[in-house]
Amino acid sequence: MSKKYKISALLLILIIIIAAIGVYGFSQYQSSMNYTIISFDFERAYNDEDVLTSLGPRLAGTDEEYQGAIYIKNQFEEAGLSDVHIENYEALLYEVNSASVSLVEYLPLGNLPNPLADPIDFVHKMDFVVQGYSGSYAWQSYSDDLEIVDVEDGNDDALFADAEGKAAVVSQEVGVASNTELFFKASDFGVSALVLHNTRIGEEVGYLPISKSTGLPSDIKGYPDIPFFMVSKDAGNQIMEGIQSGMKLRLDFDVTVEERYLRVVLGDVKGTEKPNSYVMLGAHHDTVYNGDGAVDNTVGTVTVIELARQLSKYNPKKSIRLATWGGEEEGLFGSIRWFEAHSEDAQKNCMMYLNFDMNNVDLERGNRLPITVSDNTSIHHMKRISKALLEDHPELDRYDIEIGYNDLKSGGSDQLIFARNDIKAGACWGSGSWEYHTYLDTIEHVNAESLSVGGRIFGSYALYLANK
Ligand SMILES: [Zn+2]
Repeated sequence: MSKKYKISALLLILIIIIAAIGVYGFSQYQSSMNYTIISFDFERAYNDEDVLTSLGPRLAGTDEEYQGAIYIKNQFEEAGLSDVHIENYEALLYEVNSASVSLVEYLPLGNLPNPLADPIDFVHKMDFVVQGYSGSYAWQSYSDDLEIVDVEDGNDDALFADAEGKAAVVSQEVGVASNTELFFKASDFGVSALVLHNTRIGEEVGYLPISKSTGLPSDIKGYPDIPFFMVSKDAGNQIMEGIQSGMKLRLDFDVTVEERYLRVVLGDVKGTEKPNSYVMLGAHHDTVYNGDGAVDNTVGTVTVIELARQLSKYNPKKSIRLATWGGEEEGLFGSIRWFEAHSEDAQKNCMMYLNFDMNNVDLERGNRLPITVSDNTSIHHMKRISKALLEDHPELDRYDIEIGYNDLKSGGSDQLIFARNDIKAGACWGSGSWEYHTYLDTIEHVNAESLSVGGRIFGSYALYLANK
């Protein structure tokens, strides 16, 4: 063989090798493009939504929350998940047994109610909403009626000092302290009742009062035993006018604050090769006390239930764990307590946690469907999954799917404890829920189709991860 032929042969071999590497690389690239896009029966999910919301509010620690947990557990079992069970965690929780608020006219000297004027009775949940961990107040006679003091935005201590033994009204303007700060401050100043006047939140639904909870500072053992509630803009304006004419507040609050059990429901699609490793999908199943919580967060719950049914059709190499959490509204109690109880295992075996909270899109009010994810590789895959989803289902193109980065280490929902422990996390949200934490958060605002979008993106990605 001449030298010339030798070089040609070497070149040919080289070209073959390069081509082979190219083909191999491309096939690898292609196989990474091969996502299984799961199905999602959103009419069935809507049926779950109907069953769960018909239980009424599912405040953590109440019987309704427990009934909801049983329903979820039954659906997990029927879907064929393994290790389906409920875990119970004891936590300081509350229940509003009854509450009434009236504005009472007084005679000019201010020591007797005007017998000719009927009190203005505010409607519980519509005009006022008890705030989480409020104390009780048993009204017995007119001597229990409280003088009212306008403490403006609550930042002026002198105004709070004037409210000792009286009802202090805080206007919820921008820059107002958190519920926790205000509640403990009111207690420190000897205030007898704390009223938040909603002048700012929920313009679209008429500034309704919303339910908000209070956190317990780590150095403090219990909550102040004073009534604590938010009033609508209109009710607050009436109270403010009442101050001018010497009207007083008549309150009767019966609120239980005690250690109770909240529920966490779990089930697995068992991995066939490495069952100890898992990717987790979850949503909180509890609601505020003053509404059905159809969007917050029954939609997330039914998304997880439907994903249990869809994902149980597959036999992934690693496990897929499905969870619904109680106690989210009081401070992410369910997810945090579960994580603490299983922390060693979760740190070692949990590949990623994906959360659904208010993942409903009200198309009459907009089409944003935000998904926030704490690692860029997952964002890359999810974008490709969503592209593949839209190729199969062009009708879903009317949703504006925004997949973006967020470290998820603050605020939000049950992904927090995972993100803070450096486990990859994702959160699927929605948009247009003007009824957030009000009595109007009911099933007629649910767009079941919208649940399928985030459900399929997270569900398909979970399946991809479990097969890697
Ligand atoms: Zn929520």
